[in-house]
Amino acid sequence: MNVGRLYCTSCNYQFVPKTDKMPIRCPYCDKDGTLEKATQAQDLIDEISRETVEREEREKY
Ligand SMILES: [Zn+2]
Repeated sequence: MNVGRLYCTSCNYQFVPKTDKMPIRCPYCDKDGTLEKATQAQDLIDEISRETVEREEREKY
């Protein structure tokens, strides 16, 4: 059973855990207790726009 999509309330990083256990730390900013389940469609839109920004930043270098 998958825990589903999670997001970090600290840095807004979103991801889907590979394991069936609820992660304790955010893999992006490494903070404890900031992860919550993301169920709203708006969260998915935020993630897509975030990935687009990161891709553009990477192309500069
Ligand atoms: Zn985070």
